[in-house]
Amino acid sequence: MLDVSCLNAWYGPAQALFDVSFQVHSGELVVLQGLNGAGKSTLLQALIGIGPRVAGQIVWDGQPLQDWPAHRRARAGLGFVAEDRRLFSALSVRENLWIAARSGEQGTAAEQFDKVLGLFPNLQTLLDRPASQMSGGEQQMLALARTLMTSPRLLLLDEPCEGIAPVLVQAMRDALLALAGEGVTMLVAEQNQILAAHAHRVLQLTSGHLA
Ligand code: ATP
Repeated sequence: MLDVSCLNAWYGPAQALFDVSFQVHSGELVVLQGLNGAGKSTLLQALIGIGPRVAGQIVWDGQPLQDWPAHRRARAGLGFVAEDRRLFSALSVRENLWIAARSGEQGTAAEQFDKVLGLFPNLQTLLDRPASQMSGGEQQMLALARTLMTSPRLLLLDEPCEGIAPVLVQAMRDALLALAGEGVTMLVAEQNQILAAHAHRVLQLTSGHLA
């Protein structure tokens, strides 16, 4: 379903990805591992069409999308949760979720809303709280919940368990494994070993090269 071949990326003259090729099949949980600076965020950003200058081929559902703008890739089903979360900080949890629902394609927004709250029960009690007044881990859950409101067909997550309280790491891990169990296709960047043991495949990125 996702077929990446010979992907290269540059920030100005500095090359960050070198001939990266891999596939993600429908229903797979694929973990992308690598140290700080290995190029994990660069790869995810290249896939969704933000960030670096890229060359190479990205085929999604049989269509080359490397020349598509980010919003068209999102409409085609690519959902991304950035490491820095990118929430509307002044808006409440409920508002953050409903804003995302507008671009949803499957089912009704109300059904999606109930579904994501089922996945993250601790957001239930925080529905009226501004995102800015939530902990880092709660914000990370809201960022994932918001992306799920758009019913993505491929979920790209950048270090979802990084820098959050251990109790919330557990909840995040459980939610991600529940999604994987439902057959949601995911490519997850992580440095720690939280999801790798459960992955269908682990990709190892080293200085911009896939092992
Ligand atoms: P981390 O876990 O620290 O985010 P990462 O594996 O996601 O690491 P990237 O952030 O993709 O790695 O960085 C890959 C390389 O690209 C590094 O050498 C980094 O310094 C460089 N880089 C990343 N973002 C930029 C940018 N906006 N401008 C210039 N260079 C960048």
